[in-house]
Amino acid sequence: MPSYTQEVQACRDAYNAGKMLIVEERRKHLMSLWRLMEEQSEEILAALKKDLSKPKFEGVLMEIAFVKNELVCQLDHLDEWTAPQKVGKNLMTMMDGVFIKPEPLGVVLIMSAWNYPIQLTLGPLCGALAAGNTVIIKPSELSANIATLLEKIIPKYFPSNIVTVINGAIPETNALLKERFDYILYTGGSAVAKIIYESAAKHLTPVTLELGGKSPVYLDPSSNLEIAARRIVWGRFSNSGQTCIAPDYVMCPKGIESEFVRRCKDALLEFFGENAQESESYGRIVNNRHFNRIKAMLNGANIAVGGKTDEKDKFIEPTILVDVKPTDSCMQDEIFGPILPVMCVSDVDEAIAFINSREKPLALYVFSKNGKTVDKIMSRTTSGGITVNDTVMHASVETLPFGGVGNSGIGAYHGKFSFDTFSHKRSCLVKKQAMEGMNQIRYPPYTDKKLNL
Ligand code: NAD
Repeated sequence: MPSYTQEVQACRDAYNAGKMLIVEERRKHLMSLWRLMEEQSEEILAALKKDLSKPKFEGVLMEIAFVKNELVCQLDHLDEWTAPQKVGKNLMTMMDGVFIKPEPLGVVLIMSAWNYPIQLTLGPLCGALAAGNTVIIKPSELSANIATLLEKIIPKYFPSNIVTVINGAIPETNALLKERFDYILYTGGSAVAKIIYESAAKHLTPVTLELGGKSPVYLDPSSNLEIAARRIVWGRFSNSGQTCIAPDYVMCPKGIESEFVRRCKDALLEFFGENAQESESYGRIVNNRHFNRIKAMLNGANIAVGGKTDEKDKFIEPTILVDVKPTDSCMQDEIFGPILPVMCVSDVDEAIAFINSREKPLALYVFSKNGKTVDKIMSRTTSGGITVNDTVMHASVETLPFGGVGNSGIGAYHGKFSFDTFSHKRSCLVKKQAMEGMNQIRYPPYTDKKLNL
C-alpha cells in the first residue's frame, strides 16, 4: 500500500510555518489559480472532451467559468471575510474586546467526483485557500484525463506544500485516508461517503459530504408546459444526465402527462436535432460500467421518447419513460444518466407524500404558477436546495449554500459558505488587567448577598 505521510507532513509544515496566515499570501495563491484557469483552459477543455465528450460550451460555462466566478468572489471579499468580526457584548464584557476570528483549519483534503471534475475539485480549492489552508487534492480516477492533467499543471502554479495532487483509485484513497487531515470535503456517492466519514472519525476530522440522490420535479397543471419541458430537459440531459442536481424524475397529474412528453420531445429536437449522437451539444457516459448500469434501467420500461444506445460510443439517447411505477428499477437509485421517468400522481399532496417517503433529496423542483402550491411544497418537504420554475440554477447563485441534507449530504459550500466551511470561527474575549473590582462578584466566598445583586 502506498504511503502519503510525507506529502501530508509537508503541507502540515507549511501550514505550521504560518505563511498562509498572511492574507496577501492567500491572494497570491488565488491569483495563481486564476492564471491556471486562463492559461490552461484549452488543455482543460480537451481533457473534458476525452473523459466525457463534454461539449465545449458546458466545459466553459459549468467548469471554467464556475471556478473563475468562485475565485472572483473569494478575492473580492478576502479582506472582509478574514477580518475579525465584532459581536455584541453583555454587561460583564462591556469594556472588553469581543470578536470572532476566522482561522484556517490546517491541511484540507478535497476528494472530488468525475462528472464536473474541474468545478468539483478547483471550486472548493478557492475557498480552502482563501481561508488559509494547505490542500491535498484527490481527483476521481474515472475522469482520468483531468486527473492526469491536474497532476501535471498544479505544480506549475503552486508549491507542493501548498497544493498537491494525489492520483489513484481505491488503494491510494485508502492509504490517503489513513493520514490525519484537519478537514475533508468529499463529493461523490453515499456508499463511499460512509467509508470517508468512518476514516475521518478515527481522527475526529470534520467533513463536508456532497452527495446525491433522486431529485424530484413536481409539475403542476397551472404550468406553461412548453417552458417547463425546456427547462427540465436542459437540466436532465446536460452532461448526458450526469449531474448531481439533475431533475431525476417528474411527477405530474395524468391529465398533462402526454402534452408534457410531447413538449419534451420538441425541446430535445430543438436542443440536439434529429440524431443526438451527431450533436456537438450532447455528451457521453463516463465509462462502460455506468453505460451498462443506465442501460439496464431501460429493460421492460415504457419508452415514450428515445431509447437508442451504442456501447462502443458510450452513447445513450435522451430518453423519456412513461407509466412509471415507484417499484420500477429507474425509481430505486439515482439515475445519473440521460433517462427521465414521468410518474403520474393524483395531486400535489400525493407528490409531497411520495417525496417524504424517500431519502431527503439534494434538489427539488416545482413548476407552478400557483403560489399556494409552491408554498405547500416548500413548507411540507425538505431538500438540500430548491428551484421553483427552473432546474439546476440555484447551484449557480454563489450567495446560496450548496449542499445536501440527510442522505444527500452534510454541510455546504460555495462563496462565503466555502470560506466558512474551511475556517474555524474562534471565539475571542480580550480583557485588560485593569478593573479587577468588577470581578469580585464572581469570586468566592460565595454569599447570598452576591446572588441578590
Ligand atoms: P467517484 O466514483 O468519482 O468517487 C468519488 C471519489 O471517491 C473519488 O475521488 C474516488 O476515487 C473515491 N472512491 C471511489 N470509490 C472508493 C472506495 N471504495 N473507497 C475510497 N474512495 C473511493 O464518484 P461517484 O461516487 O460515482 O459520484 C457520483 C455521485 O456523486 C452521484 O451520487 C452524484 O449525485 C454525486 N455527486 C454529488 C455532487 C454534489 O456536489 N453534491 C456533485 C457531483 C456528484
